[in-house]
Amino acid sequence: MGVSERMPRADAGARRRADAFEAFDVVFAGERVLVGGAFVAAEVGVRGGRIAAIAPRSGADAARPAGGHRVDLARDEVLIPGLVDTHVHVNEPGRTEWEGFASATRAAAAGGVTTILDMPLNSIPPTVSVDALAVKRAAADGRVFVDVGFWGGLVPGGQGDLLPLHEAGVFGFKCFLVDSGVPEFPPVAADEMERAMAVLADAGSMLIVHAEDAALIAAAPNPHGRDYADFLASRPREAEQAAIRSVIDAARRTGASAHILHLSSGDALPELARRAPRACRSPPRPARTTSCSPPRTSRPARPRPSAARPSARPRTATRSGRVSPTARST
Ligand SMILES: [Zn+2]
Repeated sequence: MGVSERMPRADAGARRRADAFEAFDVVFAGERVLVGGAFVAAEVGVRGGRIAAIAPRSGADAARPAGGHRVDLARDEVLIPGLVDTHVHVNEPGRTEWEGFASATRAAAAGGVTTILDMPLNSIPPTVSVDALAVKRAAADGRVFVDVGFWGGLVPGGQGDLLPLHEAGVFGFKCFLVDSGVPEFPPVAADEMERAMAVLADAGSMLIVHAEDAALIAAAPNPHGRDYADFLASRPREAEQAAIRSVIDAARRTGASAHILHLSSGDALPELARRAPRACRSPPRPARTTSCSPPRTSRPARPRPSAARPSARPRTATRSGRVSPTARST
């Protein structure tokens, strides 16, 4: 939590506390508020969409912000800093029936996630050019309820789009080394991935990779029906290990930062732990992995009041790829 004012002292008296909290748009009060790594009873004052003060929770003299709003959390509710989900597939436009900006960001807010980074594939167009990024921002404009940023995509022949997308504000780039599952986002070969890494290393960006070896996957048996063992046999562990080795090798040669997505086999972890930190640009980063969720078709969750959602107004995507409550998409 960012605190821009001194915390009112607990012994300063009820009047002083009330005066201090009158200046806030909203005050959240709870028994389980995460402050400095521990859950404590506290009140959090929010002004202009930002946390402005945190104070020990008052008793009978509970502060009532003048003209503002007070939210008393139930004993079984916790108040925590907003979470950041860097792996979200918002499929709008193109496959909005899978997930659109309105439902994705409302669901995020309901779960305490205040920032999402949108993956470059599944929407049509995929985010592989500055023009496509503009389409995604226009789709998000006025429909999002949390902060939204965008990943760019690396596809065959897309080297020339990397720096323009980086300059346009994407947080990094994603590629697949195997069929992505959607035809408009084809995989790249290992040599093209490495050429991209060289560009991204110079730019200070990073590449996140779905790492499975396409040839080993092609040689594996096709799954039959819905049997899980058949599916596992169709995605052999060695396919992932071989592709991860190629990512590590390319990162070491280029000095690029890389991140392995969708890791499914623990067999790759020893090599990642042994070689990946040295493969990264300084400062070394630990090996990290993420996974993605299947498309959801459920109704949007109803947003709930929380410090993680300081404004109920839909926000709009800014040119930088970040989102603010006021800026318009360009
Ligand atoms: Zn994913």
